[in-house]
Amino acid sequence: MRFSGWQVLRQGLSGNKGWKPQWRDPAPKSKYDIILIGGGGHGLSTAYYLAKNHGLTNIAVLEKGYLGGGNVGRNTTIVRADYSLPGNSGFYSHSLKLWEGLPAELNYNLMLSQRGVYRLFHSDGQRDHFARAGNAIVNQGDDAVLLDQTALRKRLPYLDYDNARFPIHGALYHARGGTARHDAVAWGYARGADQRGVDLIQNCEVTGIDVENGRVRGVQTTRGAIRAKKVGIVVAGHSSRVAAMAGMRLPIESHLLQAFVTEGLKPVIDSVISFGMGHFYISQSDKGGLVFGGDLDFYASYAQRGNLPRAEQVTQAAMTLMPMIGKARTLRSWGGIMDMSADGSPIIDKTHIDGLFLNAGWCYGGFKAVPGSGWAFAHLIATGSPHQTAEKYMLERFKTGHLIDEEGTGAQHNLH
Ligand SMILES: Cc1cc2nc3c(=O)[nH]c(=O)nc-3n(C[C@H](O)[C@H](O)[C@H](O)COP(=O)(O)OP(=O)(O)OC[C@H]3O[C@@H](n4cnc5c(N)ncnc54)[C@H](O)[C@@H]3O)c2cc1C
Repeated sequence: MRFSGWQVLRQGLSGNKGWKPQWRDPAPKSKYDIILIGGGGHGLSTAYYLAKNHGLTNIAVLEKGYLGGGNVGRNTTIVRADYSLPGNSGFYSHSLKLWEGLPAELNYNLMLSQRGVYRLFHSDGQRDHFARAGNAIVNQGDDAVLLDQTALRKRLPYLDYDNARFPIHGALYHARGGTARHDAVAWGYARGADQRGVDLIQNCEVTGIDVENGRVRGVQTTRGAIRAKKVGIVVAGHSSRVAAMAGMRLPIESHLLQAFVTEGLKPVIDSVISFGMGHFYISQSDKGGLVFGGDLDFYASYAQRGNLPRAEQVTQAAMTLMPMIGKARTLRSWGGIMDMSADGSPIIDKTHIDGLFLNAGWCYGGFKAVPGSGWAFAHLIATGSPHQTAEKYMLERFKTGHLIDEEGTGAQHNLH
């Protein structure tokens, strides 16, 4: 069923009884060509591009819970292409271009809103760093404009520019960045993959990976054993656990990240504002809630909820940035598990086991990467060679030391 204004009208006039389930609910077969472990954004987009770009459809996506119940439905929905290091910039640039055509391609209202992203700077040194980053982003073919304080005050008059500790000197502005509805992206890719014949199997946890003579043979699940010639691990915060089933130890730590939303307010923030020095960022949802978050909870955990000290730090940062937020009431908070790599950049690679592939290490930036990652991972699984946008996302870099350290914080997982 295609979505359209006409369908909405027609269904509305007939009591909304004609909508059909958006994907099938198949029982798992005993054998597939390809199994993808994890029905988050990256697993679903990989399945979609395997089918669409490579004509491969004998595929199962195995999800231990429900589609979109992981981080893809828990993030703060920011998409952007303002990375500046070689290895990252081309990849995120490609991903944002895919985002721009995605609502039409998937025939799904992803609520993509390119409302612009501001990254604030607070010192001359930080301004110089952002000027260099902005030039790299422009050279890459994306957009970036350095705004001084006067220009920024006109656009964001409600910020506290004269804060003693973090006076705001200006911002790097990325006009094509913005937000998208997170779970709709998962649903859109799920529907697209299902339409092409991919089996999406929910409530099916992978409990073991079968390896014989250095080759992957399939997986053990809570719904029985399933054989496959190729298996992709795409489980974000659970990467280390699932890779351990194949005897692998990853350069990844899993950490908690929280987010918060206020009660619905009249429109006040028409962009995304990133206050990196205070580890705080904020936007406003279409329902009016101010959506914001901060840093990791700073200890490794597989719990999907955060703790109060971080909530306190985040609200302090919010008050530092825009004191008027003190009048808003926080409605709820939630957490997700971040697969923090040692350099803050992802892994899209083969493993030492034939037929076993790994997609991981998205840290807290993997939502914007969903289209680009699926595209590149599908290419790798289908052809055996890395896609040109993801050539540097190899596991080997953690041995050779050729890290892609966008933050420049060194090899410490929780600082990226
Ligand atoms: C609070 C928060 C804010 C964020 N904000 C942003 C943002 O603004 N912009 C941005 O770009 N990124 C953001 N992120 C990061 C982004 O959400 C993640 O990097 C990305 O969603 C991870 O990829 P995924 O969607 O495939 O993960 P998930 O949705 O977590 O998918 C992995 C799936 O694997 C399944 N799984 C795990 N183990 C097994 C198993 N054994 N068998 C079967 N299935 C299994 C899980 O149930 C899960 O559904 C944020 C994350 C959080 C938590």
